[in-house]
Amino acid sequence: MVYDDPYTPERSYYECLDCGYRETTDSLESCPECRGRVRNIAVARE
Ligand SMILES: [Zn+2]
Repeated sequence: MVYDDPYTPERSYYECLDCGYRETTDSLESCPECRGRVRNIAVARE
C-alpha cells in the first residue's frame, strides 16, 4: 500500500522540537505539553 492518507483534510501537522509532541491542527503556536517550539510538518510530500 502506498503511504497516503486520504482522510487528512487541509490541516497542518505540528511537532514539538523539544518533547516530540505531535498534533494535527490548523495552527499551533507552542507545545501544550512543554510550551516548547513547534514546527509545521508539511505532510505534502511526494
Ligand atoms: Zn513539547
